[in-house]
Amino acid sequence: CASDQPCVCRFYSLEDHRRLQMEQTIYNRMKRALADRHFHIYLQPKVSLCPQAVAGAEALVRWLDPEDGALRPDAFIPALERNGFIVQLDQYMFEQTCQWLRRWLDAGWNPPPVSVNLSQATLRRPQVLQRYQKIQRRWRVPPQLLELELTETMVSADLDYSARLVEEIHSLGFRCSLDDFGSGYSSLNVLSRLRVDTIKLDKRFFDGMLSQQDGPRSEQIVAAVLGLARQLGIKTVAEGVTCEHQTQFLINHPCDLVQGYYFSPPIPAEEFGRRFLSPQGR
Ligand code: C2E
Ligand code: CA
Ligand code: CA
Ligand code: CA
Repeated sequence: CASDQPCVCRFYSLEDHRRLQMEQTIYNRMKRALADRHFHIYLQPKVSLCPQAVAGAEALVRWLDPEDGALRPDAFIPALERNGFIVQLDQYMFEQTCQWLRRWLDAGWNPPPVSVNLSQATLRRPQVLQRYQKIQRRWRVPPQLLELELTETMVSADLDYSARLVEEIHSLGFRCSLDDFGSGYSSLNVLSRLRVDTIKLDKRFFDGMLSQQDGPRSEQIVAAVLGLARQLGIKTVAEGVTCEHQTQFLINHPCDLVQGYYFSPPIPAEEFGRRFLSPQGR
């Protein structure tokens, strides 16, 4: 190359440039996708074990693009977080959740609580909870049917702020859960500061359980975390449960709810209602 700059620098800046262009494309496409209703709400059941019954659900976004097909959140959420669009998407998912709950309440189907994910940017948006309350009231959904999931990493960034937010979530009647529990560096510190209703044990614990080498240790850790939560009066959800062995362990130790492919992947909200809530489906 002609410049005196080492080539690697030029290479990086070109990469940066392309990345920015790509993000701009994603941003433009997202605006259109929201207007054209290409974002869809999928629900994954949370199951109680004895007896086995659907006792909750988590709302997870799917981007169904007419050209590119289904996009998984991991493929586009990081870009949405960087450009701030995630705030609109989170609110859209919350509103979709309220709409479905209203539909099921009107049908007399007795829906369980549904949780939605909040991103860091949403959490930081002033008046975000007032906005959510407005939506909840507009759809006349009892607030205790709505749960907000905050990730451990997100809340550890500013524990004072997060603690106030959790108080506010409760004052509006919503539930609050701590997502990806055990994946960060300060799980116990977070737990001592935030009065969450539920912790969701990170999928990695359950992956670990199946490993030859780390299996027994992972099981001891899960058992201890479940015991600690019980003593603190905090509900527990196990994420990413994929097999009978893990399920049996969670019955024995007991964990309140389990969520994972073993029971069901996330499915379109309409299908969730039909299969798990309607009198014909149950
Ligand atoms: P998450 O909140 O930890 O959600 C759980 C993820 O684990 C989901 O991935 C779910 O499909 C997946 N999962 C559930 N059971 C199993 C299992 O048994 N095995 C495996 N391998 N995976 C399982 P998904 O839907 O791809 O979402 C990925 C992440 O994207 C979510 O992780 C969440 O952080 C984010 N996300 C999804 N929807 C939204 C949203 O509406 N707003 C925001 N801010 N983030 C979202
Ligand atoms: Ca979650
Ligand atoms: Ca999680
Ligand atoms: Ca995650």
